[in-house]
Amino acid sequence: MSTLPASPSAPEAAPRKRRPPRRVQVTRVQTLSPLMRRITLQGAELEGFEVNDPACYMKLIFPEPGQAEPERPLPDGPRPKSMRTYTPLAVRADAHEVDVDFVLHGDGPASTWAAQAQVGQVLFLMGPGPGYKLALDAPAHLLIGDDSALPAFETILAALPASAQAQVLVEVVDAGEERPLQSAAKVDARWVARGADNTQAGQALEAALRRAGAPATDTRVYLACEAAAMRRIRQLLIEELGVERSRIVGRGYWKLGTVNHPDHDYGED
Ligand SMILES: Cc1cc2nc3c(=O)[nH]c(=O)nc-3n(C[C@H](O)[C@H](O)[C@H](O)COP(=O)(O)OP(=O)(O)OC[C@H]3O[C@@H](n4cnc5c(N)ncnc54)[C@H](O)[C@@H]3O)c2cc1C
Repeated sequence: MSTLPASPSAPEAAPRKRRPPRRVQVTRVQTLSPLMRRITLQGAELEGFEVNDPACYMKLIFPEPGQAEPERPLPDGPRPKSMRTYTPLAVRADAHEVDVDFVLHGDGPASTWAAQAQVGQVLFLMGPGPGYKLALDAPAHLLIGDDSALPAFETILAALPASAQAQVLVEVVDAGEERPLQSAAKVDARWVARGADNTQAGQALEAALRRAGAPATDTRVYLACEAAAMRRIRQLLIEELGVERSRIVGRGYWKLGTVNHPDHDYGED
């Protein structure tokens, strides 16, 4: 098989520059609910870490088994095995601090680390990556997702104006995970229970969405949950509820039976 030479006039694709790894230390650990921990990370290397859109993401690098702290990754070196994707929930630039909410879902370097996290422990952080281009002039927003998307939802709700309406459908393991959501907007939050069996991911959300019915025509939808559930709910929105494709932003935040699901699964396949 022959390979065509690149056209001399074709512009060279610029290599994607990764942000430098930043060393951060745990300064606070809070239990929000039995399966959700808020961990504050702080460090002088967070200087210049800026988040401009809600629901953006960052990469956290956790220690490998036997390591007291992770090795500093090379900016353009191989991706560390224990790197995972998280949402910067609140960034306090002056204090060089960022809060991260972790779902304690069970096995996995991130969840296992979060379950034992203590003040003084070290992680590396890279990013941020792009977030949700929120239509601030849209009158209505529908946020559909599971516990892993709650931090993203909180950043979206925090950015909405008082004139907006937001309906939030959240799937959690059980009612013990429910908590108040803050926003200037008028928020109607509905919590649904998945139960402890993760193979049921998304089913309670689908049922809740069918019960809620078609959203108003100008509603913007942010949908983030388990990857297969996200695809089913996207189809439900488009085919059963008549939502225009262009008004839905879908994100697979994790995938049943898969480690380190990628950060760019938009479900448009
Ligand atoms: C843009 C983006 C932002 C995200 N923000 C957050 C956030 O702020 N907080 C947060 O908690 N998560 C967030 N996630 C999800 C998080 O990246 C994944 O849950 C990740 O896989 C966790 O890594 P782990 O090492 O614990 O498990 P992995 O090693 O990746 O997976 C181990 C096993 O656990 C299962 N698993 C992974 N995640 C979950 C889950 N949430 N529930 C049930 N089973 C799971 C996998 O299917 C696999 O079988 C985000 C994901 C994306 C793409």
